[in-house]
Amino acid sequence: MCSDVLLIELLCNHCNVEFYICRKCYRGHVYCSSRCRSQAQLKAHRKAQSRYRTSDKGRQAHCHNEKMRRMGKIKKTMADESTNTPPLRVILYPIMQNTRPRCSFCGVYGKIVDVFPRR
Ligand SMILES: [Zn+2]
Ligand SMILES: [Zn+2]
Repeated sequence: MCSDVLLIELLCNHCNVEFYICRKCYRGHVYCSSRCRSQAQLKAHRKAQSRYRTSDKGRQAHCHNEKMRRMGKIKKTMADESTNTPPLRVILYPIMQNTRPRCSFCGVYGKIVDVFPRR
């Protein structure tokens, strides 16, 4: 049975969801979806920003922005951060107990392995 599809189990680095992925879909995944990837990048970016804000240069820039805002020259530049777009469901087949494991992306059934063996 060497034609078995092989799956590996992964844990999303962002939302911690577990999922299976087949060899065909796997491209070095660390996140369950592109959304999680961009969210994680956003988080990393924010961290960098808050670090920047506490620096002298950052404080000055922030102060400047405040002034501009008070003068009404900046109109909601940070607007989109809080908009709640529904999460894009990339995982079509979440892991279900007592069923045959299948790729969470393309839905193919397969066999769980620790790592994909090299051919
Ligand atoms: Zn995720
Ligand atoms: Zn797949």
